[in-house]
Amino acid sequence: MRVGTPKEIKVRENRVGLTPDGAAELVRAGHEVVVETNAGANIGFTDAMYEKAGAKILPDAAAVFGEADMIVKVKEPQPSETAMLTPDHVLFTYLHLAPDPVQTEGLRKSGCIAIAYETVTDSDNRLPLLKPMSEVAGRMSVQVGAHCLEMRQGGRGMLLGGIPGVTPAKVVILGGGVAGTHAAEMAVGARADVTIFDRSMKRLAELDTQFAGVAKTAFSTPAAVEAACREADLIIGAVLIPGAAAPKLVTRDMLKGMKDGAVLVDIAIDQGGCFETSKATTHDDPTFIVDGVVHYCVANMPGAVARTSTLGLTNATLPFMMALANKGAKKALNDDPHLARGLNVAHGEVAYEPVARDLDLPY
Ligand code: NAD
Repeated sequence: MRVGTPKEIKVRENRVGLTPDGAAELVRAGHEVVVETNAGANIGFTDAMYEKAGAKILPDAAAVFGEADMIVKVKEPQPSETAMLTPDHVLFTYLHLAPDPVQTEGLRKSGCIAIAYETVTDSDNRLPLLKPMSEVAGRMSVQVGAHCLEMRQGGRGMLLGGIPGVTPAKVVILGGGVAGTHAAEMAVGARADVTIFDRSMKRLAELDTQFAGVAKTAFSTPAAVEAACREADLIIGAVLIPGAAAPKLVTRDMLKGMKDGAVLVDIAIDQGGCFETSKATTHDDPTFIVDGVVHYCVANMPGAVARTSTLGLTNATLPFMMALANKGAKKALNDDPHLARGLNVAHGEVAYEPVARDLDLPY
């Protein structure tokens, strides 16, 4: 198969759908790889590296779409890209079609086979191609939270880990899933005083075993969260209720009881946020202050560390990419029910029930 990766054109997207190492694996398996010039240049993956891996560099996206059978990307295709898709293409990328009727219509019209990273499942019925981004956001939340605790950012001037003779900062993590667990690992590593809240007793038991006392666990009730907020220096919001908006665990009223210069990092902002006062911010202007409490609410945190995010994402996508290339889309989808869950649009029809339902389209 001929696999093609264009340069991402969505504003400020520096990730790339295929690394030079990934290209080399595809080439080793007998496939051809075409990459748009400078597709990975912003994160240190030069054209020369792709060429060394056996890929062919093409001058623009039109050439990549023209030559490739399968297009591997990061973000949903932008209108100029959708216009280049044909019934002969397989598209493998993040799509997020449910709130996007225009893109869905474009993909239907193209006749292509569109497989969305975010709906591919694993044997635990989780979402393995979303997981690396939650890992990045979780780990990064402690780094940005520590920065926000500095005076210049409006924080209360605390070092997460304290020093000998000075107690560490109190970090409260709401939600002990993928992002929350990775946040806890970093906070524990920085020697903060860490408590993880969750509603799942099973998850709390797993975390209790994993952290063996270096992080505390607590059942998430409104009263318990409120009490913890009063004491906290840094609160990280990492809850998720699949398919629903994030619950508002910290209300505006609760801010008044918090310490001046405390910090909220709302990872769940992409699901509406779990603090009542959250509103989405950007990497250019990531924070704002309400009632003396610093808020960090960037909706695409992994974008700030595009190199790590690309490597994490492609580690997860490459096995599926290989299966699609080795077997062809039809057989790969037939053989693997988890990859098949990723099929969102095929031959002009929506092939993923929740998208069809949300957009009121036939399924
Ligand atoms: P996950 O499903 O692995 O974990 C969510 C956890 O929240 C679960 O353990 C669940 O039991 C817990 N939970 C649900 N309701 C709760 C409550 N009331 N109190 C305490 N815990 C509760 O999800 P994840 O992969 O860790 O993702 C977390 C959030 O981070 C999601 O909203 C995701 O979209 C978001 N995210 C954001 C970014 C970003 O850049 N901002 C990047 C990646 C992921």
